[in-house]
Amino acid sequence: MPIGGMQAQPLTVTMLIDHAAREHGAREIVSYWADGRLQRSNWREVHLLARRMSQALQRLGMTKGDRIATLAMNHVHHLAAWYGSAGMGGILHTVNPRLFDDQLVYIMNHASDRVLLFDRAFLPIVERLRPQLKTIEHFILFDSAAEGEYLGFEEWVGAEDGNFAWVELAEDDPCGLCYTSGTTGNPKGVLYQHRSNVIHAYALLQPDVFDLSARAVALPVVPMFHANAWGLPYGAAAVGAKMVFSATNDASVLWRLIREEKVTHSAGVPTVWLQMFADMDANGGDWGRLKQVVIGGSAAPRAMIERLMKAGISVAHAWGMTETSPIGTMGAKPYDWDDMTFDQQVDMVTKQGRVPFGVELRIVDDNDEVLPRDGKTSGRLQVRGPWIIQRYFEAEHNAADADGWFDTGDVALIHPDGIMQITDRAKDVIKSGGEWISSIELENAAVGAPGVAEAAAVGVPHPKWDERPLLLVVRKPGSEVTREEILAHLQTEVAKWWLPDEIKFVDSLPHTATGKLLKRQLRDEYKTYKLASIA
Ligand code: AMP
Repeated sequence: MPIGGMQAQPLTVTMLIDHAAREHGAREIVSYWADGRLQRSNWREVHLLARRMSQALQRLGMTKGDRIATLAMNHVHHLAAWYGSAGMGGILHTVNPRLFDDQLVYIMNHASDRVLLFDRAFLPIVERLRPQLKTIEHFILFDSAAEGEYLGFEEWVGAEDGNFAWVELAEDDPCGLCYTSGTTGNPKGVLYQHRSNVIHAYALLQPDVFDLSARAVALPVVPMFHANAWGLPYGAAAVGAKMVFSATNDASVLWRLIREEKVTHSAGVPTVWLQMFADMDANGGDWGRLKQVVIGGSAAPRAMIERLMKAGISVAHAWGMTETSPIGTMGAKPYDWDDMTFDQQVDMVTKQGRVPFGVELRIVDDNDEVLPRDGKTSGRLQVRGPWIIQRYFEAEHNAADADGWFDTGDVALIHPDGIMQITDRAKDVIKSGGEWISSIELENAAVGAPGVAEAAAVGVPHPKWDERPLLLVVRKPGSEVTREEILAHLQTEVAKWWLPDEIKFVDSLPHTATGKLLKRQLRDEYKTYKLASIA
């Protein structure tokens, strides 16, 4: 006989939706559809929809471990599909519709997806790529009624009664798959398990992470295909938060939802907030009840953080990756926050924050020697923990080393108080005379100059220094800001030897599918750029 103990209940994501339906069943789920309809649902209805979907998947012959793909924006059907696929043992593969055709074909074939749920807006992609999608047997319209040969989601699941008990699941069973766009080679699949998602959801709720509670109204602007919408649909279920989904990222729609649905918590990449600010500047309006904004995915510029904080909003800067589920660090406030000046607080928020319990961080040099947490030495950032990747989907080797350390490809420094600061992507640092210039810091400083909408810093060849920074700038509409004005501003922000050798005005900058600056393309484009000063 055992001497006693606790129950060995496996941690599965179905526990989250069961709990949400049982304890917070009437709490609303609001969905703004691509055609402008606003739909009100709740956790109880989502639970029913999910069970119907599990049945419908089984009726199609899907079994445990099968991959169910989505090509979709944020909406209530997508939420139900997260749980409906997991509940029958499936793996939901959230495909990023903004990827290039050859990447889309590659990942859907690589994942061996059997079902594809797609939004009407992506019909042209489906029609175009269909002949190359080798494993998909069923194509279902996710957000609209049947059309031509395609069945509509509501009719499809409507044929089921929802009288379904989740299949037996082990906590190590996979339930989610998301590919990283990757900077080199083919995209790689990151496989999430029930256990990793549930533990990650617990971590999310903390005041020092997303600060979610039953009072929260969460609007993830971050797409559900971008690293699990940062885990919000799981965390919100755990506490019974209201959720607001928008199938469009149109700033005026987002503002309407934020104000009318009394959104308290939101999360998105920096570019989203730039658009939101531009809309507010043009059309006015207030911040509604917004009290917590999480910015991540790329470094948030100081000016952005300042503006939100001046509006009385608590801003948390988050760092993470598809490989880290994605929470790695979060801009938790330090114990002496209340004693800091406003400027000191903003300084603190520009850094990427601390790890929550569960994640460990370290920085190493090129010989894998661990570097000190002195706030000065920067090195390659490594992470480990129960929601950090061990091995990519169907890869032959582990992505983490024997001790569990995963090399993120980011360059960072860690301050003595544990606050981490990303200084660059390893590939993007500008190597000037053996020293490193952080392209991110230059960009953020440039965006702080009046009239600058967006900026990108790239290293271009230099005979003496190896590389020197070239700054590409997109002006704000109507602005005529000059090179001299930008330089004058930069002089107050960065070391003299960091100042760009040249500033070039461009109409736009390329972005990745998740809204980040596409540095790889810029690096390629300017790889042989001749600085006027050395011509
Ligand atoms: P993804 O897997 O597409 O989300 O990309 C992850 C990468 O985004 C990280 O390795 C970082 O380079 C970058 N990233 C994410 N969050 C931040 C942040 N707060 N500051 C700077 N870079 C970030």
